Amino acid sequence: MFNKSKALYEKAVELMPGGVNSPARAFKSVGDHPLFIDRAKDARVYDVDGNEYIDYCLSFGPLILGHSDDKVVEEVAETAKKGTTFGAPTELENKMAELVIDRVPSVEMVRMVSSGTEATLAALRLARGYTGRNKILKFEGCYHGHSDSLLIKAGSGVATLGLPDSPGVPEGTAINTITVPYNDSESLKEAFDKYGEDIAAVIVEPVAGNMGVVPPVDNFLHEVREITENNDTLLIFDEVMTGFRVGYNCAQGHYGINPDLTCLGKVIGGGLPVGAYGGKKEIMEKVAPVGDVYQAGTLSGNPLAMAGGYHTLNQLTEESYDYFNELADLLEDGLKEIFGKHNRPITINRAGSMIGFFLTDSPVTDFDSANESDLVLFKELYQELLKEGIYLPPSQFEGMFLSTKHTKEDINATISAFDSALERLSKK
Ligand code: PMP
Repeated sequence: MFNKSKALYEKAVELMPGGVNSPARAFKSVGDHPLFIDRAKDARVYDVDGNEYIDYCLSFGPLILGHSDDKVVEEVAETAKKGTTFGAPTELENKMAELVIDRVPSVEMVRMVSSGTEATLAALRLARGYTGRNKILKFEGCYHGHSDSLLIKAGSGVATLGLPDSPGVPEGTAINTITVPYNDSESLKEAFDKYGEDIAAVIVEPVAGNMGVVPPVDNFLHEVREITENNDTLLIFDEVMTGFRVGYNCAQGHYGINPDLTCLGKVIGGGLPVGAYGGKKEIMEKVAPVGDVYQAGTLSGNPLAMAGGYHTLNQLTEESYDYFNELADLLEDGLKEIFGKHNRPITINRAGSMIGFFLTDSPVTDFDSANESDLVLFKELYQELLKEGIYLPPSQFEGMFLSTKHTKEDINATISAFDSALERLSKK
């Protein structure tokens, strides 16, 4: 079933580390090799062996209109004919900036970059430049890209000063990153009691999407806002994943909280390489060339990326999010019924078009509880689902994504696929 993918993978590992250009797609925890993709359209993806799948990975989130949306493809192609990059401003950048400022409640001014990593890295530098402080605080299990300050694992205990998560991250950098558990405002308060005056910024995924989907509990985000405000610390919402996925006005609109800075990526590029950071004008005007915090990019605001992003955001309406909720309701109810039928535990977490399921019956509210999921079963289930034509993100610690092109029939087919997959697993 996967012969061509396997052959391409065997060649790829000689050419690229792990055969891939980003580790998340290597299938390390779900199989022997990744699938090599030939093409995709709407909610369907096709591998090089000719297998067809309903896609819930959607390139890890960007493709909210599904693959190869007609309007997006047409606009990107038309834009390319006029030139792919100029290193000079274009009107498309104005249009894109206006749209982002209009939709994201706290953003008054924005700077486009080319990836989520770049967005968070630049936002942190800006926060440090603006406050004159060195430390930042992040939450355990939240991923904010691979820049040095953010690749930090929490040690045990409360408010532990970071240890590098990867060789190559200098200890001198790691020492300035404080990590506390997600959804735990008591630990946050303790960290602020100790280091408050030195903390430039708290960065948070308003709905965590990199330990599976873990929404904020009750008042968590409000408390984070209050604590940061009281300590003159900037609050950065990393909405690279949640932006335009959790709601029409992003997670901040949905939860009614205004961060000082917001990072965006994924959906705002519509499948092309885009990131952005923005926020209060007073803070953004610290960025060069108006201010002295330096940040730049040869391909930032690239015309193709702006066309892809603009025509993606422009097609989303408030109703799109009602539709996502309808689909997610259907999927949640169906999965709960099927898992019940097979006597298997499941916990489902949701936020707009993001859905996470965990193979445990305890609530999942942070990284430790996410790790309660049965990872061995996840791997087996993943492989069975591939055979049933369902392509999930290849890790327990990634959420499933919906697009406007997924249909109720797709959801019903997915529920039946889980049923067949669990049936086979029970006979093993
Ligand atoms: N922040 C969050 C919340 C993300 O989910 C990601 C990517 N998964 C990033 C930052 C990094 O974005 P990129 O991979 O585009 O660098």
